[in-house]
Amino acid sequence: RAAVVTIDGPGGAGKGTISRLVAERLGWHLLDSGALYRLTALAALRHGVALDDASDLARVAVELDVVFLAEGGEGRVLLEGQDVGGDIRTEQVGDAASRVAALPEVRTALLQRQQTFRQPPGLVADGRDMGTVVFQDAPLKIFLTASAEERAQRRHRQLREAGVDANLSSLLKEIQARDARDMQRSVAPLVPADDAVTLDTTRLTIPEVVERLMALLAR
Ligand code: C5P
Repeated sequence: RAAVVTIDGPGGAGKGTISRLVAERLGWHLLDSGALYRLTALAALRHGVALDDASDLARVAVELDVVFLAEGGEGRVLLEGQDVGGDIRTEQVGDAASRVAALPEVRTALLQRQQTFRQPPGLVADGRDMGTVVFQDAPLKIFLTASAEERAQRRHRQLREAGVDANLSSLLKEIQARDARDMQRSVAPLVPADDAVTLDTTRLTIPEVVERLMALLAR
C-alpha cells in the first residue's frame, strides 16, 4: 500500500496550505477532503436536492463527476466539466458542506472515493477524519491546530488582503461556533486520533510548520 500522512484539525488552522506544501515537497498526491464535501453540497444546490435528504445526497456524492487538476501547485477542480474552484469556496457552499457532512450516508458515500487517492508514491490527506476514519492505518497522523483567536486573526488578514473589511470579534464567534459544531456532531466528530501528533501552529510560521512535518516524516 502507498504511503499516507493524514493532516486533520479545525477550520483555519492552515491545513490546506500546509498539506499542499508538504505534498509538493514530497512529490506526493494531495487529497483535499473538504473539497469533496463542498462539491457534494454545490452539486446538490445546482440539482435542486434538499440539504437534508440523506439518500438523495448520498446518490449525489456517489455520482459526483469531479476532476482535480494540479496546476502550478494551486490546482483546479472541475464539476461536471466546469471549473468551480471559486464557487466551492463561498460562505454559502461552506455552510451547506458542513450540513451535508453531518449525514452518515454522505460520509459513507464519499469513503471509497477518498481512499482511491492513495496511490504511489504517497498521499497527503487533509481533513477532519483522515486519521480517525478514512486512513486509520496511516503511520503518521498529524493534528494541526491553533488558538481560535489566532485563527480569527489569520482569517481577518486574509479577508483584508482580498479587500474585505470583516469584523474580528464576529469572525472569532463564528470560528468558535464552528469548532463546537464540528466537535459535538455524532458522526466523525473532530478529535485527534489516539496515535496523532498534535502540532499547535499558533506561534509558528508556515515554513516552520512545514519543516516540523518534514522532520516527523523523516523519523
Ligand atoms: O475544510 P473545509 O472547510 O473545506 O471543509 C468543508 C466542510 O466539510 C467543513 O464544514 C467540515 O466540517 C466538513 N468536512 C468533514 N470531513 C472532512 C473534511 C471536511 O466533515 N474530512
